[in-house]
Amino acid sequence: MLAMIVDRPGQPLRRVELPTPKPGAGQLLIRVRACAVCRTDLHIVDGELTQPKLPLIPGHEIVGIVAELGEGASSFKLGDRVGVPWLGWTCGECCYCQSGQENLCDHAKFTGYTLDGGYAEYIIADPRFCFPIPKAYSDAEAAPLLCAGLIGYRSLVKAGNAKRLGIYGFGAAAHIIAQVALYQQREIYAFTRPGDKEAQRFAMSLGATWAGGSSELPPHKLDAAIIFAPAGDLVPQALRAVGKGGTVVCGGIHMSDIPSFPYSVLWEERTVTSVANLTRRDGIEFMALVPKVPVRTEVEEFSLEEANEALVRLRSGKINGAAVLVANSERI
Ligand SMILES: [Zn+2]
Ligand SMILES: [Zn+2]
Repeated sequence: MLAMIVDRPGQPLRRVELPTPKPGAGQLLIRVRACAVCRTDLHIVDGELTQPKLPLIPGHEIVGIVAELGEGASSFKLGDRVGVPWLGWTCGECCYCQSGQENLCDHAKFTGYTLDGGYAEYIIADPRFCFPIPKAYSDAEAAPLLCAGLIGYRSLVKAGNAKRLGIYGFGAAAHIIAQVALYQQREIYAFTRPGDKEAQRFAMSLGATWAGGSSELPPHKLDAAIIFAPAGDLVPQALRAVGKGGTVVCGGIHMSDIPSFPYSVLWEERTVTSVANLTRRDGIEFMALVPKVPVRTEVEEFSLEEANEALVRLRSGKINGAAVLVANSERI
């Protein structure tokens, strides 16, 4: 099979031909139809996340077709369309797994980080962590739901019942979760890179009440804010934008250092929290919700071999919505 691999962080991905893997007991072999490109992939490729398996096939927002069943694998059948998310395996035994917090499992394995991911023609997955994909979505449209959507959803749940919701970083996760938030009758205040008028227009076109630069303050105090951009200096800025009792949710897996700030910015029961990974329950809830909204994903398609170009465009903030690698159908 064709795959794009990370040999060492800091280098471009390398195109390789590998033997198609065989599913072990209980596992699935999945033919990848689409894999979205997540900012986390950039953090891995750039070496900001320091524990990848190497060499690594990145990619954890995967939509594909079950091509082979390992011995005893029963929850899906041949030909089923499934989604493979970031959380690839948990131990089921640690205190987190036993208390409904499998996203915090001490021994978790992650797709496209500690397990090979979807920048390839095939992937091996554990069916217990795969989701059926709503029928209304094409493969490419569904792919960003698997992380941008899911982590965004978990971030939105952490924001509680906030009516006025700020979103910092208007990329893949934001464009999905803004639609869910509007469906829930919330108001969206979109914060982009200062001067990024195109992203601000994109946010307004999705129904935001207000859009501006991240250094600006919104016209009203917000009830909560979600930060998707990996910039720690947004934390005190977002705390200044939320009112008393407001919550700031950091939705990314990596963030630059948070600068010090006066206690008065946190005072009056403001909260800062983070979101780590996902649970299977998040996935089931979210996949049931998206066709109801209905969430429309904006995607820019690349071939698998154009993965490096997709990463470069994402790094420079030039993708509206989500970049998705799609299978090269001539080869299959
Ligand atoms: Zn991701
Ligand atoms: Zn565990």
